[in-house]
Amino acid sequence: MNNKKEIRTRYAPSPTGYLHIGGARTALFCFLFAKHNNGKFIFRLEDTDVARNVENGEKSQLENLSWLGIEPDESPINPNPKYGKYRQSEKLERYLLVANQMIENNLAYIAYDSPKELEQQKKEQESKGIFSFRYDRNWLKISDEEKERRFKNKEYSIRVSLPKNKDYQWDDLVRGKIIVNSDEIGDWVIIKSDGYPTYNFAVVIDDHDMDISHVLRGEEHITNTPKQLAIYDLLNWNPPKFGHLTIITNMEGKKLSKRDLSLFQFIEDYKKQGYIPEAIFNFLSLLGWTSPDSKEIMDKNELISKFDYKRLSKSPSKFDIQKMNWFSKKYMQNKDDDELISKLNFEEIENYEWKKIFVETFKQSCSTINEMQTSLNMFKKDLQPIEKYENEVVTVFIEQLKIRDFNVDSIQEAINKTKEITKKNGKELFMPIRLATTNLEHGPELAKTIFLFGKNKIYKRLGII
Ligand code: GLU
Repeated sequence: MNNKKEIRTRYAPSPTGYLHIGGARTALFCFLFAKHNNGKFIFRLEDTDVARNVENGEKSQLENLSWLGIEPDESPINPNPKYGKYRQSEKLERYLLVANQMIENNLAYIAYDSPKELEQQKKEQESKGIFSFRYDRNWLKISDEEKERRFKNKEYSIRVSLPKNKDYQWDDLVRGKIIVNSDEIGDWVIIKSDGYPTYNFAVVIDDHDMDISHVLRGEEHITNTPKQLAIYDLLNWNPPKFGHLTIITNMEGKKLSKRDLSLFQFIEDYKKQGYIPEAIFNFLSLLGWTSPDSKEIMDKNELISKFDYKRLSKSPSKFDIQKMNWFSKKYMQNKDDDELISKLNFEEIENYEWKKIFVETFKQSCSTINEMQTSLNMFKKDLQPIEKYENEVVTVFIEQLKIRDFNVDSIQEAINKTKEITKKNGKELFMPIRLATTNLEHGPELAKTIFLFGKNKIYKRLGII
């Protein structure tokens, strides 16, 4: 029906770091949810913490999302002017305007507290056993003269004036009904003394200005949601629907910490390693979500058509790098040979047939382009001649190899013939030939690997020439 409101979701990172697995997963779920409902996925920036912003933070977030295949419909570089600015740093006047309107309507007030006085209030509350600080409006009572002095010195902030004993509730898309009372929150700062809005205030204005219909974000924001609902309520605005995604943990069940260096946690790292982006897209979609048919390998279109927020998990999801490698390998196997050829550095190797056989063979066993490159480099090195090989299989194989052409089919024939003559098979057949020819214990298809080393190197190693 036409009068149904458009679904609009958003991912709103702070450019204080690069795209993290957790952020990428949030962005992905917002993207899938929007696309499933023919809606829009928006990227905007919470960049008011200027001191913590990293250089190129915005650019790198957008580039990494795009590498994963998550393309926003609107962003700071592709804005829809109807919805205002997509960077908070460009909306400061807008936040102040709303804050001032709230002051005029007695929904907010100027609080003239110095940090020292607030500290004192906090201590007093703690001595009474109240540990989550609630501003008690005590400092509204300070003298007019003192207020004036502090106003001139910009020693004040703006706080929201919350009603007493009011319940804020929402039906969380992941967790169901949640209720928080205003008395548990207290009047919180909406504009800081430096004139910048706080996150909880700015985010409400942004979501409202951009007509956001659904907010999916990390569970660390659950305690922020009632604060945000209070602003919607005071301003008579319609809130979006909220859903809070559970945490991602490491294999030991501990929340992923950005400081844990034993695990790559930034999408950039995976890009550098040459992972297949479609595989990461697929892998991330299963971090806290399952398909109704329990299928695992699904491309973007299939995921879009299947994504249903009702299947978002209520328990934490484990980040399993082995699984990620498995996904990457599966996608590698389906990659077009020429695309892979274009990503590898063959240096002096020009023979297209050789490249093709290499890629066909190694895409079966590699998870990343870097792994494939390492295998490729192995063929560029010389093979040491074997000193002596007293093994029947090897002796017969050398005889059979010698009398044939050097191509994949005839090498295979030589292996088959060796099997026939020696009556050996399986490991007893392959292992000695593999070691004698390539000096490796394991590897992909034997005939192809021998071929890839080339006649010259293999003959020299086996002492045929
Ligand atoms: N910048 C916040 C974050 O990255 C956004 C939170 C939200 O989605 O409201 O956690």
